[in-house]
Amino acid sequence: MKLLFQGVEGIIDQSEQLRRCGPAIAAAPNAAENDDPKLREECGVVAIHGHPDAARQAFLSLYALQHRGQESAGIATADGQHLANIKGMGLVSEIFTDDVLQKLPGTMAIGHTRYSTTGDSALLNAQPIRVDSTKGLIAIAHNGNLVNLGNIRARLERDGAYFQTTSDSEIIVQLIAHSRAGTLVDAIADSLSQVDGAFSIVMMTRDRIFAARDPRGFRPLSMGRLKHPDGPDTIIFASETCAFDLLRAEYIRDVLPGELVMVTEDGVTSRQYASGVPQTSCIFEHVYFARPDSRIYGQWVQETRDRMGRQLARESSVPADVIVPVPDSGVTAALGYAEEAGIPFRFGLIRNHYVGRTFIEPEQRVRDFGVRLKLNPVHNLLEGKRVVLIDDSIIRGTTSRKIVRMVRGAGAKEVHLRISCPPTISPCFYGVDTPSKSELIAANQSIDEIRRFIEADSLAYLSLDGLYSAVNAENKQGYCTACYTGNYPTQWVDVDEILPAGASL
Ligand code: SF4
Repeated sequence: MKLLFQGVEGIIDQSEQLRRCGPAIAAAPNAAENDDPKLREECGVVAIHGHPDAARQAFLSLYALQHRGQESAGIATADGQHLANIKGMGLVSEIFTDDVLQKLPGTMAIGHTRYSTTGDSALLNAQPIRVDSTKGLIAIAHNGNLVNLGNIRARLERDGAYFQTTSDSEIIVQLIAHSRAGTLVDAIADSLSQVDGAFSIVMMTRDRIFAARDPRGFRPLSMGRLKHPDGPDTIIFASETCAFDLLRAEYIRDVLPGELVMVTEDGVTSRQYASGVPQTSCIFEHVYFARPDSRIYGQWVQETRDRMGRQLARESSVPADVIVPVPDSGVTAALGYAEEAGIPFRFGLIRNHYVGRTFIEPEQRVRDFGVRLKLNPVHNLLEGKRVVLIDDSIIRGTTSRKIVRMVRGAGAKEVHLRISCPPTISPCFYGVDTPSKSELIAANQSIDEIRRFIEADSLAYLSLDGLYSAVNAENKQGYCTACYTGNYPTQWVDVDEILPAGASL
């Protein structure tokens, strides 16, 4: 395993000094090549202020957020004087052994777990990113994706900025460094108001923690507290509230869209650096990304997902003997569907949780080996049954077809597929790695054509209105639904990516 250690003396490559733990994990595989059935999670961020073992608290928080990115992880700590930073490729538990955590002293920490959405998929772009700027040492960890970086990066480079990475997160630090604002907090607010797109950010200097969300609130970010009877509370920020549970911390509130929160020894202060922009939080966090035991944008994911399943049953129920989720993300919606439809719920597909980025021989790929490694049908539950499969998305359609074939191959009499969100017809530019429009099956084929392609007896998606009602969207406001509608809340999108199949500029 290759790790980077950034201490006060600079960057030290510790790959030879640190113990190898677990198999080496290669860069993210090509999604099409591995026929990845899911859209890629983006990133998870955490921040800890005021804990004697801040690094371990950050590690535990990242452990709870591992589902948001498995490519790399990093933790930076500060002890009031120095700022240390260790990041590596692989899973949080593989990188942060006891030995490694001991190299991260301090009462403050920020952490990041990542699947790359912009910038190269390399250790160089793993986060936190630490930059020595005119405003002092700053470490930053970012969830989301900026959409106007080209212009800003060019302007900063003309002004003499030297970029250490190709990650868009560094643009924010360079903007801070080049800001003419007199104080650091003014410089951060000034910089955040210049960038457009999705960002939930945590930052750390030698003695302060900052947390901020973009003005539209695309990505979640919550604040929690660990109470100490004999001293000041530990303040925690995390992408999802499930991280607080592992620390036995309590949820305080969400960081608001356009809000910048600062935590120092004197306590928590906040300012609204941007306002007047309509909120467009990512609705797909509720459909798929977030854990069901998290509360995001003020609602429990378990409840919204359950309502998606119930609404799906109301909209497109079909006579059946058994409701089967495509594990794991389809489980909660399937429970809601089954209860609403009054049809038994069964785990008819079992997922192997220990399949990593297994190397699959090319000839095995052709024989659907990748899907069979991950999922196995429970023959006695499926044989002779009319099965409704519940899943949360169809991207290219190839994986759905393999699953339908698998269930039919296990003896199912009928296989009906129900999807707990509308058809995915447009790519995301806000931190979710989606294929371009030409590769999205629903952007290029009718629902009946998709049904024939995946070889299901019937296929139905949740309506957009049904999805809005499941997340309690008042007047259908407050959410980004661009991957279902093609209506992007920001001005900047990559035109090449939104062309349908066969089209060219
Ligand atoms: S385009 Fe889709 S995935 Fe991206 S932010 Fe909007 S709702 Fe979320």
